[in-house]
Amino acid sequence: MSSSIIEKKVLKGGEFLIKDSLHQEMFIPEEFNEEQLMVKETVRTFVEQDIMPITDRIEKLEEGLIPSRLDIFASLGLLGTHMPEEYGGSHLGYITNTLIGEEVGPSGSFSVSYNAHTGIGMLPILYYGTEDQKRKYLPKLITGELKASYCLTEPSSGSDALAAKSTAVLNAEGTHYILNGQKMWITNAGFADLFTVFAQVDGNKFTGFLLEKGLEGFTLGAEEKKLGIKGSSTRQVFMENVKVPVENLLGEIGKGHLIAFNVLNTGRFKLGASCLGGCKKILDVSIKYAIEREQFKKPIASFGAIKYKLAEQAIRTFVTETATYRTAQLIQESEEELAAAGADFATSKRDAAEEYAIECSIIKIIGSETLDYVVDEAVQIYGGMGYSEEGAIARAYRDSRINRIFEGTNEINRMVILSTILKNAMKGELDLMTPGMEVQNELINGSTTGGTFTGDYRAEETAVSNFKKILIMLLGSAAQQAMGGKLDLKSEQEILINMADIIIEIFNAESTLMRVQKIAENHPDKNIIPYNAILSTYLHDASGRVTKQATDAIASFISPDLQPGFISGLRKYIKYPLQNVKENRRKIADTLIEAGEYCF
Ligand SMILES: Cc1cc2nc3c(=O)[nH]c(=O)nc-3n(C[C@H](O)[C@H](O)[C@H](O)COP(=O)(O)OP(=O)(O)OC[C@H]3O[C@@H](n4cnc5c(N)ncnc54)[C@H](O)[C@@H]3O)c2cc1C
Repeated sequence: MSSSIIEKKVLKGGEFLIKDSLHQEMFIPEEFNEEQLMVKETVRTFVEQDIMPITDRIEKLEEGLIPSRLDIFASLGLLGTHMPEEYGGSHLGYITNTLIGEEVGPSGSFSVSYNAHTGIGMLPILYYGTEDQKRKYLPKLITGELKASYCLTEPSSGSDALAAKSTAVLNAEGTHYILNGQKMWITNAGFADLFTVFAQVDGNKFTGFLLEKGLEGFTLGAEEKKLGIKGSSTRQVFMENVKVPVENLLGEIGKGHLIAFNVLNTGRFKLGASCLGGCKKILDVSIKYAIEREQFKKPIASFGAIKYKLAEQAIRTFVTETATYRTAQLIQESEEELAAAGADFATSKRDAAEEYAIECSIIKIIGSETLDYVVDEAVQIYGGMGYSEEGAIARAYRDSRINRIFEGTNEINRMVILSTILKNAMKGELDLMTPGMEVQNELINGSTTGGTFTGDYRAEETAVSNFKKILIMLLGSAAQQAMGGKLDLKSEQEILINMADIIIEIFNAESTLMRVQKIAENHPDKNIIPYNAILSTYLHDASGRVTKQATDAIASFISPDLQPGFISGLRKYIKYPLQNVKENRRKIADTLIEAGEYCF
């Protein structure tokens, strides 16, 4: 964490790969407090009463509708829950804000507008604005008087955002920057009052600016015709000799990349949380439909094929939820620790999110991919009705797909995971060497590292510990080859993706294990059987996926003479006992069917 001056004590970003966590200390969604449950209820009621009944009108982009809904949300005090009180916010903490994002999720287009306004729209000012800029804009963004958008992408620069061609030149008087260029795919553009725009000063100094609506030469394209989230405004932005006062420069000249990337960490996390809310909603309607719909004189929910789908939707949703709130807690505790050590509000928020860039990318990937899986299977459970525009599933199916593309595509996010780990390792912030040596010793000498587990969940703890060893084995060898000039890792994206997917499995598996352990210990009111079924089915499947990713990596970059050693190491570490996954999934599905809704 380059910009932080404070030594942190909580598990640092990516450290889950090399350190164990205590399940008793992990926040789990079973333990929301009263205030959090009240906020959840308020948001849920808002979505059910103020959004869902007018979905068709929103989808037709009826003018003023989304902004008016943002205004209602603001009147409930919900646009400033992540902002400090001095600007009118209520600073409710990262976990509560995650819950808000989750509850907004099922609203589709509104959720996209809300996330853009409160995330990539407001955060650049909080993180990098001057005191004057914060005082001028944040209170009005919190009350909804101003709506925000964020203009990074251009026709020729999407993933390669820093290659933007828009330019900014200081005028002769030194009073204004003159901006020229074109931005593309800008969410909220149709109604936004304030645009964070990135442009190159003097041709190559990537810099942020705050542009108010109505400036001469600042115009918008028509609404884009999109596959989904049709109710969210998305337009091009054109700038022709737009005069922007120098006081609206955001941050430092040439430091726009810091704004762009730091804002994206939280943007990615928020997107994942919203996807989670979508998963739960779609699972609810899938369960209800499967119970009601009869074929062959039976509810389709009684068929094994459908039970499999419901159970798998639930397993993936549960895992995503667990990982999401674990990350929220890490960020929240880091914020608190930074603040206690003297960092101001904005710095503690920005640095904490930056610290957990790896985890934020994981949440973005699993949220978006779980939602795509859940809606796809929902279409299948609904059969022909899933393909009808009359039902809610078709819209969810179309809306879901964007999440793997924006806030950094999932390919880019997988690269971020690996590049951040390698960067932190190089800087000495993530010690991969010590566990690397231990794993090497264990494989060569047969010594055992990491202790043996003895509790009820010893097989699961061993499995998670072994997933970590597999990654360390691969990462260590890749790093060694890279340092010796034998492997140019950057250009070996397939291998990076293999490793990123193993890292995601580790985070998911460990988080899920800890949640189930904590439920078993702290929540005797809960029937632990279906939770155990979720955990063991996930680990059974994860063992297969880790084996596949690791085998691909070994075949791709380990020299043939060393491959047998690596494959035998892999076999040594993949030994989670076979599970009766059919019975497990039936238990999970039966629990869902009995509850009539998602109930974990
Ligand atoms: C509905 C919608 C709303 C949006 N809202 C906003 C907004 O509010 N503000 C904003 O600034 N932008 C916004 N975007 C833009 C969005 O962030 C970009 O579309 C996204 O970053 C991908 O860029 P691209 O479309 O140019 O695709 P490209 O970058 O051209 O990517 C095409 C494909 O190539 C892959 N690829 C590209 N580079 C690499 C690489 N180095 N390694 C491996 N694979 C690679 C990508 O993963 C992808 O699969 C929005 C987009 C959409 C569709």
